[in-house]
Amino acid sequence: MLSVESLQVEYNKVPAVRNLNIHVAAGEVVCLVGPNGAGKSTTTMAIAGVKRAASGTIRFADVDISRQTPEAIAALGISLVPEGRRIFGQLTVRENLIVGATLSRAAARRNQQLDRMFSLFPILKERSSQMAGQMSGGEQQQLAIARAMMTSPRLLIVDEPSLGLAPQYVDLVFETFAQLRSEGVTILVVEQSSRRALALADRLYLLRSGQVVMEGAVAELAGSAEFESAFFGEM
Ligand code: ATP
Repeated sequence: MLSVESLQVEYNKVPAVRNLNIHVAAGEVVCLVGPNGAGKSTTTMAIAGVKRAASGTIRFADVDISRQTPEAIAALGISLVPEGRRIFGQLTVRENLIVGATLSRAAARRNQQLDRMFSLFPILKERSSQMAGQMSGGEQQQLAIARAMMTSPRLLIVDEPSLGLAPQYVDLVFETFAQLRSEGVTILVVEQSSRRALALADRLYLLRSGQVVMEGAVAELAGSAEFESAFFGEM
């Protein structure tokens, strides 16, 4: 479904991501892990078209999206929840969700989607008229994910969903991913270091200094001494 080949992304000519290869098959949950500055966010931004690739190819459902605009990429079915959530604090919960649905074909199905998000995230229904900026970080993260889901994306990319969240919210967010996966949504999730993410993911890529240094099925990697020290040793 998603195929990233020889991706290089630069800031002021300095590469942040180098010769990166990542593949995500339909229905999979794939985790990008690695320390601060490894290039995880940069990779998600390149896929979503927010940051232009210096070289390499990004294909989604056999379409080359490497040079497409973020709007065109969203319309093809990729939705990004960026790091730090970026909800609209001065809009209500409901308004935030509707903004998510104005993109692409989803507008016609807006009410149906709203109902679906409210059943997936009951707290958002309770708070639908409240200013989003007044909610807790965990509630805002749910809103950010729900907003991204309003377009019924085929691929949901979530950058560090558990960052700064209390443990009960981390559980809730990951339970939601499990639910979305059971509905057939493909998920690429970025986490610096999280056992919760590993428990969910089918496969993972470990990034360091802009490159993939280890990859494979979580079931095979988790537990291996090499992976444990690479993943948890550098925290
Ligand atoms: P984090 O967990 O801190 O978000 P990350 O793995 O997502 O880390 P990136 O944010 O993608 O890493 O950063 C990769 C590299 O690119 C780092 O060296 C970082 O300093 C650099 N970088 C990121 N954003 C910018 C920017 N706007 N301008 C210049 N350099 C940047």
